[in-house]
Amino acid sequence: MTSSPDLQELDRMRPPAEARRIISSHLPRLATEHVPLMDAIGRILAEDIVAPENHPPFPASTMDGFAVVAEDVSPWRQILGTQNAGDTIDEEVTEGYTVRIMTGAALPTGANAVVPVEATTIMEDGHVVIHQEDVAVGENVRPVGSDVAMGDRVLPAGLQLGPAEIGLVASMGIDPVPVARRPRVSVLSTGDELVEPDQPLTPGHIRDSNRFSLVAALRREPVEITWVGKAPDDREALEAFLRERMATDDIIITSGGVSMGERDLIKAILFEADDVEIHFRRLYMKPGKPLNFATKGDTLIFGLPGNPVSSLVTFELFIRTAIREMMGATEVDRPILPVRLVAGTSPSDRIEYQRGIVSIDSEGKLIARSTGMQRSSRLASFLGANALLVIAPREIDFAPGEIVNALMLSAPYAENANP
Ligand code: AMP
Ligand code: MG
Repeated sequence: MTSSPDLQELDRMRPPAEARRIISSHLPRLATEHVPLMDAIGRILAEDIVAPENHPPFPASTMDGFAVVAEDVSPWRQILGTQNAGDTIDEEVTEGYTVRIMTGAALPTGANAVVPVEATTIMEDGHVVIHQEDVAVGENVRPVGSDVAMGDRVLPAGLQLGPAEIGLVASMGIDPVPVARRPRVSVLSTGDELVEPDQPLTPGHIRDSNRFSLVAALRREPVEITWVGKAPDDREALEAFLRERMATDDIIITSGGVSMGERDLIKAILFEADDVEIHFRRLYMKPGKPLNFATKGDTLIFGLPGNPVSSLVTFELFIRTAIREMMGATEVDRPILPVRLVAGTSPSDRIEYQRGIVSIDSEGKLIARSTGMQRSSRLASFLGANALLVIAPREIDFAPGEIVNALMLSAPYAENANP
């Protein structure tokens, strides 16, 4: 239990940047594990990948054609054989001789260039006539290590692995790949009013949507979802849930029960638990003011507000970033771009994150409009949104044409492509 001067500090409204710093200072760093490349999509690389070999490992032909000595001026060459990709022919190319070669095959000994088949005429008697006048040394040949040289730092630790990165790691001969362990995350919706989406609505009830939106948001990140469920506003049930999950999870996400009501039990339980440390429970932002952040040992507990927009916005700003930082990701934050407001807007008394549509106008400049009514229960305010527009609190309204920061959730729309 915390004494009252501390209580005042605990309930101080933190600007989002301060909340981020507090969360950062409590993040454990997740260990490295080795996963098969086939399962590594989206994972965060835990170590630099340094090329242990050259790529290509041999001088390779980039064309189907004939391997020749570039300086050779013979009117025709005798064909010694064919080098397919994967072959190593036991012939040496000298002046007057050639080896037929396929794309990706190793250049035979003695040859230093490839003439494409289109520039030749193959004679029936096993000769080939080359029509190309000058053949440069190295023409149509990828030299050893020209794509990746041995010892190059090909991929830095902290990179999120996409298809190209995974292909590169494979081409380096590395499998499994060292990545950060995924955080174990559980999600609990709380509220007596909640029913399942597929159940009939009874008077006074609403359907649980947060559990679904939060799990969907989590699935875009490299996490292991350990448990998902919903619970009524019942102290025993909620305490039992938290105890059980704190024993194994890295992150516990709850929705609801953190406001000022008597049934806001998550806030009360976190506050009263002796071994749980609360770091803040109010934010100087809109939506999302009553976000509770606590830790129990290395386990992070995020008590998100129940309003559907608040829970998604706070997930985006504080949980997604924490997840990525715990894994040592280089890219933790969304890109922030300055954008021009198409319409004016009235600021709130807190930093507001409006759901916005950012697009590129005919002059190539970024413009932004809001998605309409921004009430924190209106999940539809996320529809079409590719950004959160950061509207700072101030006395006067924002006028059309003013510049604000946009936290980009995805790329700007091209002109006239707005939904
Ligand atoms: P609370 O934070 O529990 O006070 O809830 C704030 C508002 O969000 C109330 O109108 C709740 O009915 C609503 N709410 C709480 N949890 C959910 C949920 N899982 N899905 C949709 N709405 C919710
Ligand atoms: Mg509630």
